[in-house]
Amino acid sequence: MLFPDEDLIRTREIMARVQPVLDKMGEKTTVQLYQGQPFPVLISSLLSARTREEDTKTAMDRLFALADNPADIAQLSYQDVLEAIQSVQYPGPKAEYVIKTSARVAEQGRVPDTLEELMVLPGIGWKSAVLVLWLAFGLSPEICVDVHVARIGKRLGLVNPSTAKPEKISRELMKKVPRDIWGPWNPMMVNFGRTICLGSHPRCSKCPVNNLCPKIGVQDVHPT
Ligand code: SF4
Repeated sequence: MLFPDEDLIRTREIMARVQPVLDKMGEKTTVQLYQGQPFPVLISSLLSARTREEDTKTAMDRLFALADNPADIAQLSYQDVLEAIQSVQYPGPKAEYVIKTSARVAEQGRVPDTLEELMVLPGIGWKSAVLVLWLAFGLSPEICVDVHVARIGKRLGLVNPSTAKPEKISRELMKKVPRDIWGPWNPMMVNFGRTICLGSHPRCSKCPVNNLCPKIGVQDVHPT
């Protein structure tokens, strides 16, 4: 068992080694492409749930070609939005969420910048809300947890292997990741999980943090 300070030093080192590798590869999630633009961040986050990055990007391009602001998207027909976002998972419910959430943002005149306000928007759960706060506003009250953050956190020994609930995983990680990198931790781990620390057969021999990783639960590594 490491002392807490050792975890903080190790996670900062993980970030220092992993992020430059991802930068060199040019890896970014679709939501990251809109960093600093609250409304596109919000809509792309909503569309990205359980959807591949390229399919989210296709949907965003097609939707924003029809209308590119909350008031105009809220006026689109359900059928038009549905056709534009066909590439994502669960397009039916998401089309409804896109229209309703756009209408709320148009009414309020802004994308909300608190977890509580974001989580009452249709289609925006805890994970999307935390991600939107970081990528839209640079705020990071918690660490956003998705499948990549959870899986890699467990392999790195930062998260209890039996912890399943994302909010609980977030609380465990917040004790071991320095406060100033809570925001970028999610996008970094998502891109790391898509390229190196793959769900099955992680590329440990090519991993920049190989010597910092206890590889908890890893059985079959990638042959290269
Ligand atoms: S050493 Fe392997 S399991 Fe550990 S972070 Fe790297 S790729 Fe993932």
